[in-house]
Amino acid sequence: MLEIEQAREIITAGLSPLNPVIHPVSSTILGYFLGEDILADLDSPPFPKALMDGFAVRANEAAPGKALALNSMELSAGMAVDFALPPGCACPIMTGAPIPFGANAVVPLEFAKTTSTQVEFITGEINSGWNILPQGAEYKSGEKLLQTGDQITSQNIGILAACGKTSAFFHPAPKVAIVATGNEMVEPNQTPGPAQIRNSNATMLGALISESEGMPKYLGRAEDTEKSLEGIFQEAFTLDVAIITGGVSTGRLDLVPKVLSQMGVEILFHKINMKPGKPMLFGRTSRGTPVFALPGNPVSAFVCFHLFIRPALLALRGGKKEQREIPAALTQGLDYHSDRPTLHPACLKLGQVNQVTPATWFGSADMLSLSRANALIFLPAEKSSFAQGEVVRCLPTIRHLV
Ligand code: AMP
Ligand code: MG
Repeated sequence: MLEIEQAREIITAGLSPLNPVIHPVSSTILGYFLGEDILADLDSPPFPKALMDGFAVRANEAAPGKALALNSMELSAGMAVDFALPPGCACPIMTGAPIPFGANAVVPLEFAKTTSTQVEFITGEINSGWNILPQGAEYKSGEKLLQTGDQITSQNIGILAACGKTSAFFHPAPKVAIVATGNEMVEPNQTPGPAQIRNSNATMLGALISESEGMPKYLGRAEDTEKSLEGIFQEAFTLDVAIITGGVSTGRLDLVPKVLSQMGVEILFHKINMKPGKPMLFGRTSRGTPVFALPGNPVSAFVCFHLFIRPALLALRGGKKEQREIPAALTQGLDYHSDRPTLHPACLKLGQVNQVTPATWFGSADMLSLSRANALIFLPAEKSSFAQGEVVRCLPTIRHLV
């Protein structure tokens, strides 16, 4: 059987970022990856700029205790400056204003003693360049500020706005189809009849997709019949990614693998050496849409999403491989035996020494334990006893660990 790492490699090896599309620059592109290089259209600052409120002077004329004549004009931000500072003069200036020709320092207000016609400075030596940001100090026109593949943060949005980019090319969010399968399923707004259960996976997967910056589209529930499955899969294959839950194991009504094969999906693997999630299948349609068929048990679907689909969505969005694993010491001993590597729900606490406490867990149908956890710990198959203090690999499962 395939190991987890092998499965991950098979999935990501066949994926390349979706073609960049032009998109307005706004908070909706946070987390997107750039599909073009961004060059500065101007120097920044575009003129030498005062960084303090004070007096523009020639540094060599402005010795402490020496009076300078007060220039009658005051310079403020937004005033186009077209004059040279007369010799022996200090010119009142505000933060953000262009420096007048000839001046090479700004002495802050708090160091100045003024009369109506003169100013004197109470400070140490006044150096050339003091409180002035030279033209182009931050960046020069034509300089590359952001590059293809950079992820958009609020700061990067600030850069895009500063250089006049109101729209730019980004790799789009993958549109992800969700299909639930199972005769026993009713939707969350319905009351299950005898032997029925609510379809919790579709909503949960939608949230996981959104959290991974994909665009979920729930297509509905298929019955466990070839006809019903085929009809809904057809639609799913028109999106960028298709996720199916349930019907992928070995029971008589687990028809998903058979129907996928009949529809020409190339099955790249079926079954992984892991717990939960062993029956997972991955394939590709003839036009290249990746298809993930996850076991229906909610914890299995959740674990498979984190291990396999999240990295796949990241690759489609143009991102680089994430390093999400965190080592942590077990706060208590754990006896756990399985013939397969197991991902066990746990509570992770970051600190000088990261600590992790395994959750009480009743297996792949036990969503409640998972909802009270914030991580999965990797338990290798060959061990059945884990000591307190032993360091284990953890995979965070919530967006922000606090
Ligand atoms: P399956 O993978 O179809 O054999 O389903 C395994 C278990 O998961 C069964 O107990 C199903 O009832 C349950 N299950 C399947 N699909 C869902 C779903 N969408 N939401 C919640 N539970 C599900
Ligand atoms: Mg089923």
